[in-house]
Amino acid sequence: HERPIAAGEMPLLRIDSVVKNFGTLRAVDRLSLDIRAGEFFALLGPSGCGKTTLLRMLAGFETPDQGRILLDGEDIAQVLPHQRPLNMMFQNYALFPHLNVRDNIAFGLRRARMRRSEIATRVAEMVALVKLEGLEKRKPDQLSGGQRQRVALARSLARRPRVLLLDEPLAALDKKLRESTQAELIELQRRLGMTFIIVTHDQEEAMTMADRIGVMENGHLEQVATPRGLYEAPSSRWVAEFVGDVNIFEGESQPDETGRLAVATPEAGTIFATQPADPLTKTQVCVAVRPEKVKLSRRGPAADAAHAHAINRLEGVVTEVSYLGGLTVYRVKLDSGAVLRCSMANTARLDTDAYSVTHRVVAWFTPDDCVVLER
Ligand code: ATP
Repeated sequence: HERPIAAGEMPLLRIDSVVKNFGTLRAVDRLSLDIRAGEFFALLGPSGCGKTTLLRMLAGFETPDQGRILLDGEDIAQVLPHQRPLNMMFQNYALFPHLNVRDNIAFGLRRARMRRSEIATRVAEMVALVKLEGLEKRKPDQLSGGQRQRVALARSLARRPRVLLLDEPLAALDKKLRESTQAELIELQRRLGMTFIIVTHDQEEAMTMADRIGVMENGHLEQVATPRGLYEAPSSRWVAEFVGDVNIFEGESQPDETGRLAVATPEAGTIFATQPADPLTKTQVCVAVRPEKVKLSRRGPAADAAHAHAINRLEGVVTEVSYLGGLTVYRVKLDSGAVLRCSMANTARLDTDAYSVTHRVVAWFTPDDCVVLER
């Protein structure tokens, strides 16, 4: 799934310069995006950035003010929502409270005038797919949150749409159930070979499930990339800070004699960084370093040897140690007064944290660990 869509390749869904205004508010701003068949795509962004509005336009509940939405190359502007091969599963599930599980799932099939015997077969198939056997006669208020979520999923899959649109489908579930449901959704999507587009503001959820993620801000896409691409090669400071934890140092960059960038920063001295693939046009930059890329050691002869050749080497004092189970996060106050966050995996069960508050430490990272971004 990691290859980009080639020129000339027909995406399943093409969103072409779409605009949506609500009065004077521009909720979606000339947004373009291609999604290929079979992809699990996540739209990730803070509250109010326009994710749901975009999804609603795909489903046909909102009409774009400008731009086009193409499915298999055909403009679907004139196709009514229930005739589109895209189905939406809503955040609150929108189940009919007076209908039981079976009738909720059958609803769209009846409206589409499917034959009764076919409906029965399809509903049974869907009930098995989402593992709701035995609960067919229950009403929504006799189900748990997770079971309701499955009914909604079964209902939105019943008509076998080509694309399933999921608006925060797991928001109402607790953490444990959310994680197991994430795994089920991935498995289901692979098994059905269907295209899923999910809206979420939870970056871990997006990274767990999606082949590609589109990060949205203020009605436009900041970056579209694989989870790894977003995390390791963010295209802007905003994305770097939105996706995961990061240390940022602002500075002035110039190439050094070896072709690297030397970034003079007030907070961390000169940081040497590998040149980004796309050459920078500005010298006002910031350097982004993920906490787990930063190595620490105590001062002392043995430790000094370990980082003697480190190019980016900072000194400071540990001011905070947070044990988080799988990793420990250290805050190090540098001599400049700036704070550097470093995280280390806890690989051994009985290890105690390697550094304590007041320990003087050396922190270092390589030029490849640095992402240089324009300010
Ligand atoms: P959330 O994660 O909070 O659901 P979102 O990214 O899905 O946010 P949208 O629901 O798409 O955001 O809303 C984008 C912007 O458009 C918001 O400022 C919202 O207030 C506004 N908006 C959405 N629907 C309407 C509407 N029907 N009328 C007026 N403004 C609207």
